[in-house]
Amino acid sequence: MVSVNQQTCIGCGACAATCPKVFEIKDGKSNVKKGQEKSKLPCVKEATEGCPTNSIRV
Ligand code: SF4
Repeated sequence: MVSVNQQTCIGCGACAATCPKVFEIKDGKSNVKKGQEKSKLPCVKEATEGCPTNSIRV
């Protein structure tokens, strides 16, 4: 399951820019879009590696 740690996400937008099908910024934090929790898109891994606060879990 793809998830974003709301405690540590700083809302930088990098994940949404890298993988807009899965991540969106809402109220200053990244959220996994509805229905994308099980996404296997390669960009999820890219976004995970690119997150500056290591907030994305797959
Ligand atoms: S890249 Fe990380 S810190 Fe930036 S918005 Fe996404 S989850 Fe949050």
